[in-house]
Amino acid sequence: MSISIVVPCFNEQEALPFFYKEFKSLTTKMSYEDFELIFVDDGSRDNTLDTIKDIAKNDTRIKYISFSRNFGKEAAILAGLEHSKGDYVALMDADLQDPPAILPEMYEALTVEGFDSAATRRVTRKGEPPIRSFFARMFYKIMNKISKAELVDGARDYRLMNRRFVDALLSMKEYNRFTKGLFGWVGFKTKWIEFENVERVAGETKWSFWKLLAYAIEGIVAFSTAPLVIATIIGLFFCLLSFAGTAFIVVRKFLFGDPVQGWASTISVLLSIGGVQLLCTGILGQYLAKTYLETKHRPVYIVGESNVERGLC
Ligand code: UDP
Ligand code: MG
Repeated sequence: MSISIVVPCFNEQEALPFFYKEFKSLTTKMSYEDFELIFVDDGSRDNTLDTIKDIAKNDTRIKYISFSRNFGKEAAILAGLEHSKGDYVALMDADLQDPPAILPEMYEALTVEGFDSAATRRVTRKGEPPIRSFFARMFYKIMNKISKAELVDGARDYRLMNRRFVDALLSMKEYNRFTKGLFGWVGFKTKWIEFENVERVAGETKWSFWKLLAYAIEGIVAFSTAPLVIATIIGLFFCLLSFAGTAFIVVRKFLFGDPVQGWASTISVLLSIGGVQLLCTGILGQYLAKTYLETKHRPVYIVGESNVERGLC
């Protein structure tokens, strides 16, 4: 049996030496298995690629795929999975926030306990800005209410999967890949393993607040059409309100005449309806834009250079 470890890297030159050290000690611990380590360089602007090549020179287990530009972590994950050849595939961050030490436990879940994947979730968000934790929590709450994706709060992308799980993931050819949702969507049996949050070993986080917000919107649009329903309901509510309002005004005119009054309230009603209309058009636009991107059938990533052939898929 063999294990492929897929590691998306974006500007990770500081973290990579630490990561490789951990990888080596992991493979000595699990020497009963063959390993393949696939670094996906997601268009890094620092020396990540050279660092990877240096490591690969002395170790034939190291594979790398380097993108022509930054395509995002989702694209890097897809590339890694597509190029992996192992019977089991693990996804791991380069910054050691996904402790390699728990991989043996995950491996046991698959080989002994019969699970198809072993996923991890951190139980604390220690070391994270509180406002970020707050929005993250809200996102998970909302997502689980409005979609079938079954997201777990605190779930990391760190996961070990068997071939059939990976193939199921790869059978989804969509362009907008929200992997956190895809994991849940494919089903199968998953064991959840919990661990305490670890801070990154070196370098800085690549996710700004705005990048995370865009990611959250991406997730919602990819896995739920609830916003469209909500927009329709709001629209309906305003229609009913306006019918009632019109009826009221007509009746009032016949009973009391029509003095010119209340322009301020007219303007505010106009503004609020205009605002809701714009919001709903915006929501519609989000879905339309995604559909537009899907129908273009563009590749999710473009490889600049690599030392590995694409797998069977
Ligand atoms: N990453 C990537 N492409 C990006 C952003 C991040 O491949 O555009 C990788 C990054 O190198 C790391 C992992 O995704 O291995 C997680 O990123 P990071 O540690 O910055 O996120 P955080 O742990 O802070 O959520
Ligand atoms: Mg990290």
